[in-house]
This record gives sequence, structure tokens and C-alpha cells, in this order.
Amino acid sequence: MNARDWSASPRNWVTTLMFALTALVAVVGVPWYGIVHGYSAAAWVWFAVILSANELAITCGYHRLFAHVTYEAHPALRLVYLLFGAMALQNSALVWSAGHRIHHRYIDDPQRDPYCARRGFWFSHIGWMLRNYPSGEPDLGTVRELQHDRLVMWQHRHYLAIALSMNLGVPLLLGWAEGDVVGFLLLAGVLRLVVSHHLTFCINSLAHMIGSRPYTEDNTARDNAVVALLTFGEGYHNFHHMFAHDYRNGVRWWQWDPSKWFINLMHWVGLARNLKSVPWFRIQRAILETQFRRAERQLAQSGDRAKLEHLRQRVAEEYASFTAAVTAWSQLREQWLQSTRRAVAERWERSILQMRLKELEHGLRLQYRRMRLLQAQLA
Ligand SMILES: [Zn+2]
Ligand SMILES: [Zn+2]
Repeated sequence: MNARDWSASPRNWVTTLMFALTALVAVVGVPWYGIVHGYSAAAWVWFAVILSANELAITCGYHRLFAHVTYEAHPALRLVYLLFGAMALQNSALVWSAGHRIHHRYIDDPQRDPYCARRGFWFSHIGWMLRNYPSGEPDLGTVRELQHDRLVMWQHRHYLAIALSMNLGVPLLLGWAEGDVVGFLLLAGVLRLVVSHHLTFCINSLAHMIGSRPYTEDNTARDNAVVALLTFGEGYHNFHHMFAHDYRNGVRWWQWDPSKWFINLMHWVGLARNLKSVPWFRIQRAILETQFRRAERQLAQSGDRAKLEHLRQRVAEEYASFTAAVTAWSQLREQWLQSTRRAVAERWERSILQMRLKELEHGLRLQYRRMRLLQAQLA
């Protein structure tokens, strides 16, 4: 490890003081004012509304739109994301996206991943912002297309002015209208900012530490329903690191992913389009591949020779049928794409292709269940 990277990196006093002072006010000032004067219901409601606006601007805007381009958004929606994203005080969308693309590219590399979870909870949660680490220097070469985006560049150039006026202006205006300026500044201003910060930071810390890895075991990213609850759906982080260009993180309909629902809503009202999602088959393939690798590991560790040989045989058979299905699926998909491209494509030809694709998908679903049973025997 580079020694300079660890201890000799200069402290970033701006972020250190910002995090320390806002946390101090949230922990001491907010309860004290609550005990002495009390808060109105309106102040609590606006705390929740602005907190949600900030979180959605980060998850749907900064993350899934600007950093990963998982859909296209109307300029009005982009502007709202940029205003409320600046209010969340996590830097400009340009710098944020640059760091995040590096995080995906060099995930878990202590030298290059800006919030590498292998460097510990504190570092990945907040520590990476408290010093000017070489791994944290944004490489703007990764966001060239965003540098041609007029709205993104406008926010980047005037970030401080926008961030300050949103953070002071919105709570002040609301507080003045409701006749409770201090109460609004404390709840909708400071407490909202501190809570919003730490909710987002959990994605870089907890979502790389606690939870399951159904889609890939190649990195530290985890799926965690509790973290998803805290982070507006970003807790399905194992899926996200495997399929970063999918607009969903909680891919199943029942998984808690309000960011996915919000993007769907924006699509429905015509403010978002071209939502990208990974074909179901590829997702299932990732799950099965992970299961096979796990089974292999368990087989290697198991001691019971007779049982082992039998199970090894069954896993090998399942793997053979799985690779056959994957090959068939790729061929069918290619035929399907060609038939849709051909203007003269016969309807019946396409419906037969579609039926065979469905059969293959059904086969994989059954295989998933058989693998779960096999895995239970191996455990
Ligand atoms: Zn991550
Ligand atoms: Zn991401």
C-alpha cells in the first residue's frame, strides 16, 4: 500500500468541518430546540419531503441517469435532479459521476477505487472524503459526454452557489411561510442534510459488507433488503454491480426500489424514455453461474466420498444442460433480432421463436430450483 495514500494525504478541511459541524448541530442543537420550543408537524413533513427529493435526485439522477445512463430524461427532469442533487451536498453531478464510474471500473482495488470497501467501514462510508487521497482525485476523462451536457456543466460551474442557495433558501422560505424559521432550518435544513448524507453513504459502506451475493461473487457488493429500505432501493447492490446499465437495482417486482418506481412514473408521464433493462435470461444465467461456482467450492470442501461422487455427477449434468440452454438462447435471440430487422419477417416465424425462448426460460427456472435443492444437500 502506498504510504502517502494512507496517512500523509492532506486533510480536506472543507469537508471535515462541514460533516463535523452539521453532525454536531443534528445531534445537539436539533434535540435541544425540540425540548425547549418543540417542532411543528409541518416542519417534520417538509423534513421528509426534502429528504426524499434529495435521495431520489441522487439515486435516480446522479447515479442511474448521469453516472450510468440507464435511461434518457427530459431537460426539466434533469434540472430538478441537478438542483436537488446539489442540495444533497455530494459535489456536482460531473465530479460525482466521474468518481462513481471509477468505483465500478476498479471496484475493491485499494489504490484506485475511491471508496474501496476493503479499506474498512469508516473509509468507505465517509473517511474517503475527509482527506485528499490520490484514489479520490476525480478523473474527468471518464465523463467526457457529460462535459458536453449544458445543464450538467452549468451545475458544475455554479455548484457552490446552487448548493448554498438551495440549502438555505428552501428551508428559510418554507419556514417563513409557516412562521417557524428556526424549526425549519434545523429540521428541513440541517437534520435532513445529515440524514441524507449517511443514508447515501451506506451504499458505499454497508452495501459492500453485509448481505448476499446472488449474481456475482467477484466483488464485495451485496444485496441487502434493509440497506435497500434505507437507500431508496440502492441496497440491491450486488445486482447493480453486475448489471450497472439496468435502470433497476431491485429487479424483482416485490423488491423495495422506490427509485425504479419513480423512473417508471417519469416514463409514464413522458419525462423519461428508453429505460434500459437486462434480458431476464441473462439475469438467470448469472444466478445459476454463481450457484455452480458455489457448488464447486462446497464439493471441494466436502469429506463424504460416496455422497460426493454422486453429487458431483449431478452438478456436472446440470452444468451441461445449463451451457446447452445458454447456447440455444444466444442463437434464438440472434434469429429473433434478425427476424425483427427483416421487414418481410413472417409473423408465425417470430411467434415460434418467441415460444421457444419462453420454453428455454422456463427450463432455466426449473434448473434454478433443482440447483437450490442440490445446494441444500451440499451444505
Ligand atoms: Zn458499489
Ligand atoms: Zn453504480
